[in-house]
Amino acid sequence: MIDPGPPPSDAIILFDGKDLSQWQSEKGDKTAKWRVEDGVATVNGTGGIETKQGFGDCQLHVEWASPAEVKGSGQGRGNSGVYLQGLHEVQVLDSYNNKTYYHGQAGSIYKQYAPLVNACRKPGEWQTYDIIFHAPKFDGATLQKPATVTVLHNGVLIQDNVEIKGPTASKGAPKYQAYSGKRPIALQDHGNPVRFRNIWVREL
Ligand code: MG
Repeated sequence: MIDPGPPPSDAIILFDGKDLSQWQSEKGDKTAKWRVEDGVATVNGTGGIETKQGFGDCQLHVEWASPAEVKGSGQGRGNSGVYLQGLHEVQVLDSYNNKTYYHGQAGSIYKQYAPLVNACRKPGEWQTYDIIFHAPKFDGATLQKPATVTVLHNGVLIQDNVEIKGPTASKGAPKYQAYSGKRPIALQDHGNPVRFRNIWVREL
């Protein structure tokens, strides 16, 4: 794999391996409590975390690895997620020889779009997501333009500028509700010890 190299000069560093000072918990006293060790943040059952800063249109780079020790199956194996604006999930899952529903695989826009191809590496191996996101536009309460997202998984195009149908919903049809302004990027705690490193974002 090509080394993704250092973040570009205009990037905002969200996690450089030292601490989660750019993040807060989605619950409780707001302190992000994921374990940070050896340059890596690991999901540990303390709940999802979100950036303190809000973002709109952006390019986001995330590196993640599912647990090397395979446990569970389907949605119970290496599940986490990257939530754009805290609403739209790009699924993180160990999809290496792991069957699940088509729009629940790694790199799916959860329950909306399957990835174009399964680009998942073996359990425990580091993987990259490079995501280009454009926020939805509203005129008052009316949706003018849905959010769009492009995703490269390990350098492979898996989501090609798809129109997001609304905030991720586990049941039923997604539905937009008008919002304005920037919102945090969130990472999901789905109870599996997924690891993250080298996270940066560029505002567009
Ligand atoms: Mg998930």
